[in-house]
Amino acid sequence: MKCPNCGREIADDSKFCEYCGTKLVSDPVAPAADEKASFIQRLGSFLIPLAGIIIYFANKKERPTLAKECLICALWGFAIPLIFELAIFIAS
Ligand SMILES: [Zn+2]
Repeated sequence: MKCPNCGREIADDSKFCEYCGTKLVSDPVAPAADEKASFIQRLGSFLIPLAGIIIYFANKKERPTLAKECLICALWGFAIPLIFELAIFIAS
């Protein structure tokens, strides 16, 4: 392949151009650890708390941010109906 910087022929598996030192391998994609939960994942976790808990356990290692957000939504999904039921119970 050719160096994109100086245009000289270099080995295909080079990480750096041996002539000009240009870095040829782009940095690995940022670890998925920073990934945030999508709206659908949050909504799903809220509406179906069990799904949120499953997402939490499935992702807590690789994507702790996403897992935590889904868990919080799942907890709200559990808590809000309980609060409503409690309110109805007290009011009746
Ligand atoms: Zn070069």
